[in-house]
Amino acid sequence: MTDHDDQHDHDHPHHHDPHVPAITHLSDLDLRVRALESLLIEKGYVDPAALDVLIETYEHKVGPHNGARVVAKAWRDPAYKQWLLDDATAAIASLGYTGRAGEHMVALENTSTVHNMVVCTLCSCYPWSVLGLPPVWYKSAPYRSRAVIDPRGVLKDFGFELPADVECRVWDSTAEIRYLVLPIRPSGTDDWSEDALAAIVTRDAMIGTGLIPSPAPSPAASPAISTETPT
Ligand code: FE
Repeated sequence: MTDHDDQHDHDHPHHHDPHVPAITHLSDLDLRVRALESLLIEKGYVDPAALDVLIETYEHKVGPHNGARVVAKAWRDPAYKQWLLDDATAAIASLGYTGRAGEHMVALENTSTVHNMVVCTLCSCYPWSVLGLPPVWYKSAPYRSRAVIDPRGVLKDFGFELPADVECRVWDSTAEIRYLVLPIRPSGTDDWSEDALAAIVTRDAMIGTGLIPSPAPSPAASPAISTETPT
């Protein structure tokens, strides 16, 4: 025998399921999700280990860092950029980013005259393979409706005003086609490595609700400043 308290009969109906921690501070939605998960596990419809793998995958392996690699490579490699714009699905898959909700990708290039912004007016279609799971606001009714009615107003809420002479194109994502915005490469990054570029690409910029600001020049990269006093 062991003195390990958790080693009790698995048929016991009130065993401590690690997926259902002490419920004290959870929202109604959390409670509903957990109740549903417990029920599905109890009935044998889902395997908790499989759920853990899925959650681990989308929390750590699949996320906006994948899209950031795509963008950084496109910024540095004109041939890759052209491939991305011609056949985003294949260009993205060549970096290993494949799988669910990434089967039919289209890349949209932001320029000084056109700004692209992505929404799913119907539900929450989103390019999981390059951006991970959608942020809460992307799934919200206000974003989904306003993005179409008043895209410039939405962008203002996100903190930037699109100049009047820049055309704003809104793309409605679907289960069939999902979009990745290729943001404008900020100035002052000409000699940056792919890693350095990927690090400044944000999720919102790849949805089209954010811009990537030009980086402040680092002291090392700044030209030497003369300390001589002009005479
Ligand atoms: Fe959708």
